[in-house]
Amino acid sequence: MTELAIAKNIAKLENRIRIASQNCGRDPAGITLLAVSKTKPAAAVREAAAAGVREFGENYLQEALEKMEALADLELTWHFIGPLQSNKTRPVAERFDWVHSVDRLKTARRLSEQRPDTLPPLNLCLQVNISGEESKAGLRLAELPALATEVAALPRVTLRGLMAIPAPSDDPATQREPFARLREALTALQVTIPELDTLSMGMSGDLEAAIAEGATLVRIGTDIFGPR
Ligand SMILES: *Cc1c(COP(=O)(O)O)cnc(C)c1O
Repeated sequence: MTELAIAKNIAKLENRIRIASQNCGRDPAGITLLAVSKTKPAAAVREAAAAGVREFGENYLQEALEKMEALADLELTWHFIGPLQSNKTRPVAERFDWVHSVDRLKTARRLSEQRPDTLPPLNLCLQVNISGEESKAGLRLAELPALATEVAALPRVTLRGLMAIPAPSDDPATQREPFARLREALTALQVTIPELDTLSMGMSGDLEAAIAEGATLVRIGTDIFGPR
């Protein structure tokens, strides 16, 4: 991807987000664009940052740490969105601002214990296996209330909301169903944890459906940086 292509893609995407918001009567300012830069070089992140993007998502720890090093002169917010093994939490607790892929208490506890006192609490989302796929990461909806209560009580993390990666579909109505279930799950949790404010849902192929169902943060890779 050339410099120009990335800036152009971001402009197009901001337009898509604006139109999708208007179509459901939402303020586009309530939707954060998270640029997913996994497998893409630091130079591509730099181009996206030059075009005004501040939030970046990474899936692979080593790769992310190298990019952070190369981009230390920029003020960026880093989100860990990939599978997280509980024995790899320390660098995530020390270097990231958000983790979207928490699906067990052990991981959340370690992130809380390992979050340096010099930094603000680490923002967490619980990842829900919203389509109920056998092989997928994430917890089941039935497990969510108990885990959310325990994670919300940890001292050095702030539970912000929920994340999901539904089974892909080309049909807008089919795309909306799992996003609606995630929104309903967040609404139910807000009764006891009113601070929850984040629905991390929607990728390049389904961001309109996610916004229609209340996404507050969309995670976009391909439509910014090109195919992986
Ligand atoms: C790769 C990835 C994305 C971005 O997907 P695109 O389809 O390329 O926009 C979003 N969320 C997660 C968790 C990912 O791993």
